[in-house]
Amino acid sequence: MSVLKLARPEILAMSGYSSARMEAAGGRVFLNANESPVSPIDGESCHRYPDPQPEALRAAVARYLNVSPEQCLVGRGSDEAIDLLTRAFCRAGEDAVLISPPTFGMYAVCARVQNARVLEVPASADQGFAYPLNDVLAALAADQPGRIKLVYLCSPNNPTGQVVPTDVLDQMIEATRSRAVLVVDEAYQEFAATPSALSRLPDAEHVVVLRTLSKAHGLAGERLGIAIAAPEVIALLQKIMAPYPLPLSSVTRGLAVLEPAALARTAERIAMINAERERLRQRLPESPQLTAVLPSDANFLAVRCRDAGTLYQELLRQGIVLRSLQKYPGLGDALRISIGTRAENDTLLAALGCSTANSLLPSTEAA
Ligand SMILES: *Cc1c(COP(=O)(O)O)cnc(C)c1O
Repeated sequence: MSVLKLARPEILAMSGYSSARMEAAGGRVFLNANESPVSPIDGESCHRYPDPQPEALRAAVARYLNVSPEQCLVGRGSDEAIDLLTRAFCRAGEDAVLISPPTFGMYAVCARVQNARVLEVPASADQGFAYPLNDVLAALAADQPGRIKLVYLCSPNNPTGQVVPTDVLDQMIEATRSRAVLVVDEAYQEFAATPSALSRLPDAEHVVVLRTLSKAHGLAGERLGIAIAAPEVIALLQKIMAPYPLPLSSVTRGLAVLEPAALARTAERIAMINAERERLRQRLPESPQLTAVLPSDANFLAVRCRDAGTLYQELLRQGIVLRSLQKYPGLGDALRISIGTRAENDTLLAALGCSTANSLLPSTEAA
């Protein structure tokens, strides 16, 4: 079965907007898009509509991810890809998405905007928030006729930090084959040691992998995310995407961080962040205000607190902003710490009553 059989029939039937930029090939005098003929800023060419999917950027992300450009859709963060997937596959009032809370909030938000049902199959705190494979398999088996169109698997998971092991991923790929789209959100993949789901794509046209330049690549301000999937899925998503999603300035910076020298610096930054995460993981248990530090393969740590609400406010008074996880099931006593620079992490450790820089480990000069 083609994965497109899962898509909304009216989306399959429609033809997308045909923009002036898409229709024009070549040319010298551009009088086709109602643009200004001159730039408003000296020396900067910003008066023309951008390429909807700039070839150079698509080629650069494809090279970085070791896939083909036709498998890649670059958009405004992976948030946009989540929205496009929801709108392309879920019929309002009929279809559902399956999520395993506690997990990233946008899956449910996009589903609700589309009036798709959100089926929650939670991960259990008692099981260390391991992916609830058996419960998900049971929910898929019970879904007759098939209303679940998207199954989200976030690895490493935000906000718990756990990776989904490869054998669990492979079982999920088989369980969803010919029946739902498996969306593997790898926003934090660069920080983890487990292999990416990208290697599974050649045998799984129903799998979509999400990556982003916002986290490890440090480009959150430019809003660049990538959906990687079978070319027919990419074409379907592009059909319902805004005509000119990528600002020229974002494309320029996206290309810059994918240059070999920038990728080498990113690898160094990832090593620094991971080393700092391990240092925090060792030191944080000294804090009288914390009761547990969850294991994490991402650039954050979830911690359990004696009184998360009070601690959050107290740190805020000192200018230190953490993320409250209190609204998540099983995390009512938890806060999330994004790994900062060494100095920022020391500020947090001191505020929590833990030892800092030189006391336990030899200091390495990391920013
Ligand atoms: C941050 C995050 C995203 C969104 O990233 P953008 O590319 O900035 O939109 C997607 N998924 C998860 C799990 C995230 O934590």
